[in-house]
Amino acid sequence: MSRKKIIAGNWKMNMTPTEAVELVNTLKPLVANDEVDVVFCVPAIDIIPAMEAAKGSNINIGAENMYYEDKGAYTGEISPAMLKDAGVKYVVIGHSERREYFAETDETVNKKALKAFEYGITPIICCGESLTQREQGITIDWIRQQIKIAFLNIPAENAAKAVIAYEPIWAIGTGKVATTQQAQEVCQSIRSCIAEIYDEATAQAIRIQYGGSVSAGSAPELFAQPDIDGGLVGGASLKPEFGDIVNYKK
Ligand code: PGA
Repeated sequence: MSRKKIIAGNWKMNMTPTEAVELVNTLKPLVANDEVDVVFCVPAIDIIPAMEAAKGSNINIGAENMYYEDKGAYTGEISPAMLKDAGVKYVVIGHSERREYFAETDETVNKKALKAFEYGITPIICCGESLTQREQGITIDWIRQQIKIAFLNIPAENAAKAVIAYEPIWAIGTGKVATTQQAQEVCQSIRSCIAEIYDEATAQAIRIQYGGSVSAGSAPELFAQPDIDGGLVGGASLKPEFGDIVNYKK
């Protein structure tokens, strides 16, 4: 089965609404490539202006986070209904920065993923090991556990539509990209884990990204791996370089 690549930018806590519009306008012609799904995951306040600026282009605007309740007394949170109403199709769930600074756990990741599907929003579910875990040789066990909990109670037809982002924490924002072999090995084991939980068809359908210091230089080799279906890109998604990443084949 051939899976369409999905290349997503993760803007993190960067870009004011004014800057967001400028960046979308700058990148719009550079990321025009219908062979891949292009997503800009932006801060909540930038969603609407970025969506306006992206109108008529191939850019999908996504969110970086959402809460797992429908509505109510959760000061400061953003609900799945708000994202859906704004036209958001993708939401990043469980990024390692959310886990480190905002107390997200595998359990909250699962709740958020379930809720995203309920609203027809595709979750980009993040997983990844720390440097210590890699050095201890427990990377695969750790990732398998993260995946198993993230997908609890998610039916196969939804799981098949999910996106998983494998992001080794030591590679995020450090300029230290995982080797192609390291990235492929983990992405392959994630796919096997999905096959064990569900079946081979679901495993073949699900899209698995690599993230962590992806650049225009590293993208072509990473994205050519059999189990890597694109990337989640932080720093380089804020620059014209993102156009070269999206057009990694050219
Ligand atoms: P980076 O971030 O590309 O800047 O390493 C990736 C991410 O955190 O999603």
